[in-house]
Amino acid sequence: MRTLKNVVELKAVGMKYQSLNGEIPALDNISFKVHEGEFVSIVGPSGCGKSTLLSIVSGLLTPTSGSVLVKGEKVTGPSKKVGYMLQKDHLFDWRTITQNILLGLEIQKAVTAEAKEYAEHLLETYGLKGFGHKYPSQLSGGMRQRVALIRTLVTNPEILLLDEAFSALDYQTRLAVNDDIYEIIKKENKTAIMVTHDIAESISMSDRVYVLTRRPGTIKSCHDIEIRLDKRTPFNSRKMPEFQAYFDRIWKELDVHVK
Ligand code: ADP
Repeated sequence: MRTLKNVVELKAVGMKYQSLNGEIPALDNISFKVHEGEFVSIVGPSGCGKSTLLSIVSGLLTPTSGSVLVKGEKVTGPSKKVGYMLQKDHLFDWRTITQNILLGLEIQKAVTAEAKEYAEHLLETYGLKGFGHKYPSQLSGGMRQRVALIRTLVTNPEILLLDEAFSALDYQTRLAVNDDIYEIIKKENKTAIMVTHDIAESISMSDRVYVLTRRPGTIKSCHDIEIRLDKRTPFNSRKMPEFQAYFDRIWKELDVHVK
């Protein structure tokens, strides 16, 4: 049997924000591991600390207790091993698609002929051949989101963090982009952690779903998602009977019901 390699490990992570009105506990005692190539989702009610958790994994925020290890090393700040994809695509309208994709590398002063070639290869592979010279306003919402992912991939991170990455898209586009992005992440063999408030999205894309409690977010439950499909895609997963069973279970656990 293949041994599973730990890529991300959270050990009793806690976070308290300091504000003028005192301390705001955002997260408490979060521990979990993510293995190489896994797609893990975090769901929870609004304000339970999901984005805070991703910012801690990315190294942008330091937890007030506990620690995060990425590939066995303690996270002490942002690292090239981790790529971040946000709700808004944050493409600059005055830069072409290629210039947008190379932005991260430009900042790192790492634009090489090889990197440009890789950017071109990613555009070609993921259905954007010939779009490099166009501007973001000439692309659909789904294409822009693909560009945002390619911009993240071009720096070659091993771990992708997705923070509500699809919530700005309309429902139909979102379903299509879920499939697109899932395929790209699997093909590029990346490990992914996604934060979403959308239960269906989390089940359809993930190997495992963690449900958080209300703030301060703690892990309420963990669900291994097993969907019996030869070639799993998020869209096809949604049609399987086990999908509905997972949905019902997680829906009951998610503390969002009007009392
Ligand atoms: P979620 O992503 O689940 O909606 P967040 O991680 O954004 O939750 O926020 C968790 C809690 O921490 C919220 O109550 C939010 O108001 C609070 N919070 C987030 N950022 C800060 C900050 N910089 N200062 C003070 N409180 C914050």
